[in-house]
Amino acid sequence: PPLLRVEGLSKTYRSGGFFGRGGRVTHAVKDVSFTLRRGATLGIVGESGSGKSTLARCVVRLLTSESGSIHLDDIDLSALTDNDWHRESRRIQMVFQDPYGSLNPRRRVGELVAQGPIVRGAPRREVEARVRELFALVGLDPKAVDRFPHEFSGGQRQRIGLARALALDPDVLVADEAVSALDVSVQAQVLALLADLRERLNLSVLFITHDLRVAGQIADDILVMKDGAVVEAGPTARVFADP
Ligand code: ADP
Ligand code: ADP
Repeated sequence: PPLLRVEGLSKTYRSGGFFGRGGRVTHAVKDVSFTLRRGATLGIVGESGSGKSTLARCVVRLLTSESGSIHLDDIDLSALTDNDWHRESRRIQMVFQDPYGSLNPRRRVGELVAQGPIVRGAPRREVEARVRELFALVGLDPKAVDRFPHEFSGGQRQRIGLARALALDPDVLVADEAVSALDVSVQAQVLALLADLRERLNLSVLFITHDLRVAGQIADDILVMKDGAVVEAGPTARVFADP
């Protein structure tokens, strides 16, 4: 059975209007279904506005979907209370497009990476050792844990974002435009790192990108979204071979 199974997921934004009356309604995600196998990378591609980010945010529960289900193994994540979700959330972690935007500039990067395990009650001494291991794992100097986010380049910040996600030892990594803000040469380095980590840690990756070239490099399977719906899905070679 697949590790992650999303079925019939839909998400609507309502904006403007007073007290829920009037305003605009955007059907950002429409009846989307897919599965993700353990160790596999699924590329979710589509133009800007096609619903990729909304889908990613629903999967990691930054947003709640109106309908559909999200199963991790046999747990129905969409049916969990917030408290129960907090226990399972370790298993699905997200890496954002701009880790600068998601890394608190006033906190040392080692603290940012340690935060998830600390919040979950892991002993500080153990976490500090683990954070230095994670820095080495993602190709950063373990001595850099005491520095601040602005002291790192874009590619290095993306590695910090990865370390922060991996600190919770997840099964699924959701990468939302994780290399899109980087120069092509740095992109290649971060993609190679991601591919290497996926092998070593047997991670499943949901890789969201508007960039077909990048998706073709990293994904085993591709899901193409347009206007919130899935318009094509299948193995990468087959999807890209289609005229
Ligand atoms: P993306 O990079 O996914 O295309 P954008 O850069 O367009 O997203 O949007 C950045 C942020 O603004 C996101 O948090 C997104 O949820 C939000 N956003 C996008 N479109 C709208 C909209 N029409 N109304 C309100 N917020 C929006
Ligand atoms: P993508 O990630 O593919 O760029 P998004 O999921 O960001 O697509 O956006 C899908 C649709 O939902 C777009 O029409 C966008 O404008 C709209 N949207 C995204 N975030 C919001 C928001 N917070 N409020 C209202 N509309 C939004």
